[in-house]
Amino acid sequence: MVATMRTEPFWFSMKRRLCLATAGAVVLGAYIGLRTQSAVSQAAVSYELNDVHFHLTNYVQEGTDIHAFLKMMGNKVGRVALFGIPLQQEWSYQNSGDFAPTYYLQTDAPLYYYSFTDAYIAMAYRSLSKEEQARFDPMITGFNPADMYAVDHIRRVLKTFPGVFSGIGEFTIHKEFVSAKVAGETASLLNPALDRILDFAAEVGLIVLIHNDMDVPFAKAGSEPAYLAQMKAVLKRHPKTKVIWAHTGLGRVVRPVTHHAATLEAILKDPQFGHIYFDISWDEFAKYLVATPEAVKISADLINRYPDRFLFGTDEVAPTEQQKYLRIYYQYEPLWKLLNEETNQKVRKRNYERLFDEARHRVREWEKSQAQVN
Ligand SMILES: [Zn+2]
Repeated sequence: MVATMRTEPFWFSMKRRLCLATAGAVVLGAYIGLRTQSAVSQAAVSYELNDVHFHLTNYVQEGTDIHAFLKMMGNKVGRVALFGIPLQQEWSYQNSGDFAPTYYLQTDAPLYYYSFTDAYIAMAYRSLSKEEQARFDPMITGFNPADMYAVDHIRRVLKTFPGVFSGIGEFTIHKEFVSAKVAGETASLLNPALDRILDFAAEVGLIVLIHNDMDVPFAKAGSEPAYLAQMKAVLKRHPKTKVIWAHTGLGRVVRPVTHHAATLEAILKDPQFGHIYFDISWDEFAKYLVATPEAVKISADLINRYPDRFLFGTDEVAPTEQQKYLRIYYQYEPLWKLLNEETNQKVRKRNYERLFDEARHRVREWEKSQAQVN
């Protein structure tokens, strides 16, 4: 090519150059056009919400294909905290015969910790393009919080899949009907294994999403929630760990404890709990919150007073269509109406972005520091 160009007459070479210049301008113009277009289309996609609590797979480790799930997110959901379920429901033939249970309430057979969930989630995430990945914050869940070795599992996952995870959870300490079914030792807020996990999360910058029922089912009215004092003590011991307490500590049959809003407010206004956040996920919880106009009003007033401390989440498990995936978002319509505009934006989107942007950044830095050590 070079030899041919040298022998070209001057006018030809000029024409060629002009041609090339024109072509270059056209390409550049098209490029700028595309850039502008993509900037416009990005600006046009203004997502309505982020989801801090989403299970891609169910209690038998089956679920939604992540590419199909992206379609469900559509242009409504911007970012999602992504995890499976750390517990596998055993299909015990002795118990349910040919009936294959897919939910923990369908059989008496135990649940057991299924660590492969983390590899599964990491591989699903890695099957996405860079732009698609930016919409997910994968979380590590496949550890037993009663095991002093849990931390080693979390570290191993981070090292095996660098660049993937932002946090740990949803993992569970006390949960109606579930805790008692877990094979082996029951998780406890008093177990130092949990302290090790929370210490490590602070060191790495992992955000923590924890499920812990504040109370036992069918508690006596007016009594102090059974696990409240223990939970507060744990949280107080780990001021550097950012913790999101799922469902504000309420469970399936734990009715809104008397003065639940007051209990939450006592935590929210105490500077010792400045690192604690609450998610308002789970339809079982949402139905209490919107049960009466008075309940919605009490909740909205509280959230308006502490707009930085609450996050929206769905807690959906392996959904099949957008309408089902977002049913809790629509269920909360009465709440959205009572939140002021700024609070609304924070609960639906901005608190998520602030917390997870920071977690992402810190975890990536920790991973880099580890790569240097090795
Ligand atoms: Zn959940």
